[in-house]
Amino acid sequence: MTAGETQELLKTIADMLGKGLRTVTEPFPETDKEFADILAQLRDLEVDDLEGKLVVSGFVDHPFGPDQQRCMECMYYLVHRRWCDLPELAVPVEPDWWCRLWRI
Ligand code: SF4
Repeated sequence: MTAGETQELLKTIADMLGKGLRTVTEPFPETDKEFADILAQLRDLEVDDLEGKLVVSGFVDHPFGPDQQRCMECMYYLVHRRWCDLPELAVPVEPDWWCRLWRI
């Protein structure tokens, strides 16, 4: 993906979230099994089902929860690329966003 395509995709996601796309933020996966179950749901989606990815993983465009968790501190976040490196997601993300696959 070129830098331009990445930027375009980032804007598309921001627009979808900004327009109030309802995503599944709860329950947060507390166990490895619950985490794996969400990954399995993501793998069942069509490869280009961007909305499905955002919904299932529970994307929001702001820090989340009492600890104000965000992509910036997630182990999957690639700072310099503004990218989520979780293979089942593999989308550009802003540092202040969050999803329920957040891990440290
Ligand atoms: S897994 Fe979720 S919280 Fe972590 S970087 Fe990816 S989108 Fe952000």
